[in-house]
Amino acid sequence: MRITAYPARVVHTMNPSQPHGECLAVADGRVLGVGPLDEIRRFGQVEIDERYADKVLVPGFVEGHSHALEGYVWDHLYLGYFDKLDPDGKRWEGLKTPDAIRERLAAHIHDGPADKPLIAWGFDPVYFEGERIDKRLLDSVSSERPIIIMHASLHVMTVNSAVIRQAALADKDVEGLIRGPDGLPNGELQEIPAMHLVFDAMNFDLFSDASTVRALNRYAQAARREGITTIVDLLNPMDETAITALREATGQDDYPVRLFPALNALAWDPQQGGEQVRAAMAHNHDRLQFGIVKLVTDGAIQNFTARLLWPGYLDGPENGVWNAPPQTFHDMVQHYHQAGLQMHIHTNGDEAVGMILDALDEALALWPRADHRHTLQHVQLIRQDQLRRVARLGACLNIFANHIYYWGDIHRTRTLGFDRCQRLEPTASADRMGIPFGIHCDAPVTPLSPLFTAWCATTRQTASGVVLGEAEKISRARALEAITLGAAYTLRMDHRIGSLEPGKLADVTVLDEDPLETETPLKDIRVHATLLSGRPTSNPGT
Ligand SMILES: [Zn+2]
Repeated sequence: MRITAYPARVVHTMNPSQPHGECLAVADGRVLGVGPLDEIRRFGQVEIDERYADKVLVPGFVEGHSHALEGYVWDHLYLGYFDKLDPDGKRWEGLKTPDAIRERLAAHIHDGPADKPLIAWGFDPVYFEGERIDKRLLDSVSSERPIIIMHASLHVMTVNSAVIRQAALADKDVEGLIRGPDGLPNGELQEIPAMHLVFDAMNFDLFSDASTVRALNRYAQAARREGITTIVDLLNPMDETAITALREATGQDDYPVRLFPALNALAWDPQQGGEQVRAAMAHNHDRLQFGIVKLVTDGAIQNFTARLLWPGYLDGPENGVWNAPPQTFHDMVQHYHQAGLQMHIHTNGDEAVGMILDALDEALALWPRADHRHTLQHVQLIRQDQLRRVARLGACLNIFANHIYYWGDIHRTRTLGFDRCQRLEPTASADRMGIPFGIHCDAPVTPLSPLFTAWCATTRQTASGVVLGEAEKISRARALEAITLGAAYTLRMDHRIGSLEPGKLADVTVLDEDPLETETPLKDIRVHATLLSGRPTSNPGT
């Protein structure tokens, strides 16, 4: 047995029996043990690797909800409100006014092939007071070349008149196709069925277009930089093109992350979807794991498309938009549960949470299943009684901690009001009730960075510096657990990753500072390196 020992300033293991140590020993890609070097030597000849001697080792970060789109959207124009880093680490300045958006669009209006639409992303109109931005702003840039702008949430798009003409939107009647006072489409399309009118007519689909080795490599590159060793692509088309690209990318010897793609259930008939996942699972290996099914019920609060219970939105429409009739989700939950698969279910508003809890309740009554680990994703507005139901049903949560920073101010003043903002992303309540939970970024919706996500869960600060929900803060130790073992548990992988215990895969994140000791905000701690199966990683394909 070849043993490599990595002495470190400290190793935090997330193993309660042996929480900290001074040296990590690795053999055959697995953790041999954490402890004093002298004790490790009892196993035999040890090769000592001093490169992390002054660093801090923690279990590799697990990002339980992001999208491979992160590796692809940067091929298109960024129009977001906040500064953001692309996979190469280049900073793109956030745009703070509609005029700034118009200028960036105009500067790039001739980008790419002229016969293709100009595609941009990251747009967040809720930040602009006054009249909602629609096709008129885009038409002022060009009414000839089709322009398609994805909103930051990826749940809404705005298009110009050229797209409205080419997709014949004026003749269509789909929920979420928004019309102006003149009865004509105003360019805004809310949620997946409405957006598909444009995807289909213009022959593109962002999520499918991310199914290339290049995009998957750039996704992994961005993840690696932020200390991630396992990542979930939580909405994959999982058609043959996607599966081929996933197999090819993760088959590279230097692919630096374990990738978990989840089937986009809305694109499949449940019978065929279940069969597709089962067939794909035959390709599973250490760096690629199929098996999760993703359902997207409602929209996003900042788009006013999440489904809310009374009193609904503070300053917006009465309620949000379902991505399919609730009965469809009910049937899907029953089908995939009965088929023995694990579901991860997007629920933003409290009405959506309640609808899914009803469906899970019934499915579990009909087909009891121990340890199903169905996971509700985002659950931003989940109520205390709903949390108790989650605990009773044995479900898990993956909580959208980053949301407080990016949209907390908007939720207080525009969408929800003071009281409901205190309960957004209730990590402390989930913890108190013993519900297994992770926290996530939903990249490219917000930036990929588990340490930033952990900082959000511990500080609950909005972009303007206001604290929302003091009582829902969690400690640094609990946040660190949420981005490692907690997220691993929601993937049914806590026996292999998420902590540094003998026999588990030696996936490690190397930090410059000790997150449990330093005064430095978690978000500002630098990731020095990652190890996958005990080997230092590099960017794939380089
Ligand atoms: Zn998502």
